[in-house]
Amino acid sequence: MSTTQNKDYYGTLGIKQTASSDEIRKAFRKLARKYHPDVNPNDKRAEEKFKEISEANDVLSDDKKRKIYDQVGFYSDQIDPATAAAYARQNSGPGRGVPVDFGGFDFSGFQPGATHPPRQPGQNGQPGGAGSASWGSFRDIFSGIFTGGGDAPRSQQGPVPGTDLEYQVPVDFWTAIRGGNARLDLHRQEACPTCHGQVSSGAPMQCSECNGSGQVTQMGGRMKFNIPCPRCGGTGRISTACPTCHGEGLVSRSESIEFRIKAGTRDGQRIRLQGKGNAGTNGGATGDLYVIVRTGTHPLFQRMGDDIHLTVPITVAEATLGAKVDVPTIEGRAQLRIPPGTQSGQKLRMRERGVDSSQVPGQRGDQIVTVEVVISQLNDERSREIMREFAKLNNQDPRVTLFDKL
Ligand SMILES: [Zn+2]
Ligand SMILES: [Zn+2]
Repeated sequence: MSTTQNKDYYGTLGIKQTASSDEIRKAFRKLARKYHPDVNPNDKRAEEKFKEISEANDVLSDDKKRKIYDQVGFYSDQIDPATAAAYARQNSGPGRGVPVDFGGFDFSGFQPGATHPPRQPGQNGQPGGAGSASWGSFRDIFSGIFTGGGDAPRSQQGPVPGTDLEYQVPVDFWTAIRGGNARLDLHRQEACPTCHGQVSSGAPMQCSECNGSGQVTQMGGRMKFNIPCPRCGGTGRISTACPTCHGEGLVSRSESIEFRIKAGTRDGQRIRLQGKGNAGTNGGATGDLYVIVRTGTHPLFQRMGDDIHLTVPITVAEATLGAKVDVPTIEGRAQLRIPPGTQSGQKLRMRERGVDSSQVPGQRGDQIVTVEVVISQLNDERSREIMREFAKLNNQDPRVTLFDKL
């Protein structure tokens, strides 16, 4: 008899039963990226799916648990490997459930596919343990276990750290170079003001899953196992979920944050703002905020790392005879020496006229000037005469080498 409670973990992850641990890990990661609650906010179906794949991964990625699952068709901490092996020997496979007599297990009141009221050994007439306890499927019971990644129910689990946040922030050209303040409007999760991130509120109540007994009965094939109630962690009592955050411990809030931009900050640079990410729950640490700076442009200067690039026009006379010319830099005017015989398009370096490095104190970039020789219109006869004279004195043919290559 096949039990409806058994789950197909391999199918959930979309892998074969023979999958290697590497294949399991890859399949889980792929699905986790798709269904992670952070990627699908307020999507209950994605959340369910994420729980399912997490549960499947939790069992299949652990060799010991996987073996028991393969043998019995489900996993519980209450099953020891020897029991599972014995069960497997007498059955055709997981979940196929050929009826078998199993010494040492309690088959009383066994009904195929039915669920059973919890009963604690040695305790008769358990309060609230009347035979009407109708639990949901195996899935419902166990989903609670895996959400917290442990045996404790959500209300009793340990601290869960908050996630990190990442935002891009545009910063204008000059602020990035000289430093200054920047502002960012963001949404982050904060500790719930009602329960202060403690998830639950008010006094603990009797657990509805086990009716306060702390024990539930689990079916596996024809076997019955008594296990600690996964909802209340075996305590029989459970705290009420906070009405403000519905047990999430967190509320979403928009906030405006001002932060410091260091002088020399480059485009794409990441700034870490510790403790400005999402809040944790149950006393878990708050995540960090990462700001990626996007620096603005300038009509004249082009910034490349710590260097500044600039194109400067010069006259024929300055290019041929050499000159000292004033050029703009990010700190105002500075003198640039043009060597005699400078060609149009030549690059001249002005050392340490660039941006102060934000990474290496005291280090500074250069300004790189591309000179562009500008040919002036000759509007008077005297100038034209001089130019003709000049041509006569300098009658080299700059094209001669072109013909050498014909
Ligand atoms: Zn709350
Ligand atoms: Zn319980």
